[in-house]
Amino acid sequence: MEHKQAIALEIALQTHVLQTCPVHNDIFYDDDVDPSGAFALAVELVRQHKACVGEFHDDAHALTDLLSETISAAPHSCPHCPSAMATKNEAAVLRLT
Ligand SMILES: [Zn+2]
Repeated sequence: MEHKQAIALEIALQTHVLQTCPVHNDIFYDDDVDPSGAFALAVELVRQHKACVGEFHDDAHALTDLLSETISAAPHSCPHCPSAMATKNEAAVLRLT
């Protein structure tokens, strides 16, 4: 994986927009989480000239572009967890009752 993409991935994981399946270690997109938090963090890191985003040379747009690419490329649940969806629906039902 390209280093820049690894940075975008790290930001997505840190803000829990992307999650790692605890069973299979696969990365997936949690659509219950508002992705704007990841974009806000990305812009903030570039604005503060953090060393970890130095490769983007103060270009927050390049980082947010890559971030949105990384997020949209991820599956909506762990591809190896057929029960992930069922668990989620069950949780939604519990909230409603
Ligand atoms: Zn899984």
